[in-house]
Amino acid sequence: MSLLHQRWPGLDLGHVALGTAPSPVRRLDGLIDDIDLWIKDESRYGDGAWAGNKVRKLEWIIPEAARRGTNTLVTVGGIGTHWGLACALYGREHGLSTVLGLVDQPVDDHVRQQLARLEASGAQIHRYAGVRQLRRAAPWLIASNIRRGRLPWYLPAGGSNPVGSLGYVETALEISAQVRAGDLPEPATVVTAIGSGGTAAGLALGLKLAGLSTRVFGAVVNDSFPLDAPVIARLATRTASLLSARGATDLPSVGAADLVTADDWLGTTYGDPTPASTGMVERAARLGLALEPVYTGKALAAIADRARELPGPVLWLNTHGPR
Ligand SMILES: *Cc1c(COP(=O)(O)O)cnc(C)c1O
Repeated sequence: MSLLHQRWPGLDLGHVALGTAPSPVRRLDGLIDDIDLWIKDESRYGDGAWAGNKVRKLEWIIPEAARRGTNTLVTVGGIGTHWGLACALYGREHGLSTVLGLVDQPVDDHVRQQLARLEASGAQIHRYAGVRQLRRAAPWLIASNIRRGRLPWYLPAGGSNPVGSLGYVETALEISAQVRAGDLPEPATVVTAIGSGGTAAGLALGLKLAGLSTRVFGAVVNDSFPLDAPVIARLATRTASLLSARGATDLPSVGAADLVTADDWLGTTYGDPTPASTGMVERAARLGLALEPVYTGKALAAIADRARELPGPVLWLNTHGPR
């Protein structure tokens, strides 16, 4: 049973376990000096052909789709989207079709491989040169699927609506249980990349709910839409409202002061493989960690740059999950 359902037994939300909880935590030595660094490894969280942070969101999105009587998930992302792939693979296992609107992004080997996986996933794919073209086409994407007798549910990029964000409220409760069990010290800071905000928003709400004083530090890696602290706090607040509407009580309020965001490691745009990011990916590979330069490399570059200022212990969330 989910930790959220253990806390509120009458909670009127569906949950399907798609991975084995809790994901492991351990000290991460030898990667960044001058810091008490821990890792929570989401890279194996999943039971199918993909793992990582998007699987946590789908644990709540898939049952909610059933509740809404939806048979088609419509969503958007870059041509290397981890979210779109997780949606297509896990949706298919649960009888849902996926329609993807994909925007071009800088292409490297990782993106090329992702695109091949997307094309093999059975998802219906529509490609656009830029975000503007995709925005113009989005209503058509939805309408054409209704005409074909499908009942689409539109999910924003990264699955970062309040339902998806529940995945990281749950994960924050998991971190709290691991702290209580003595698996790691109470972190002063949890670090994640911010691509669409659901991970950071869920964590900010969940850590407060768990009574931890841990702060979220998010390295913003996407410039397609605003993802600063007030935006993330608003998503956390909408997630809290969803929980109360479904029977949860005594929810804390989350404000912009509850988290820190910075986009110093973004580079020129979303997907730009900066030297700092690719450097961290190479260093991590020597420790046996398979990362990528779009999210996880940039989150680690942020930790390396801020090692002396970030309050420790620091818990880094490894959000990347290739299989
Ligand atoms: C999507 C993604 C993120 C960012 O999570 P959001 O909830 O979209 O902010 C971080 N790391 C990886 C590997 C991702 O695929």
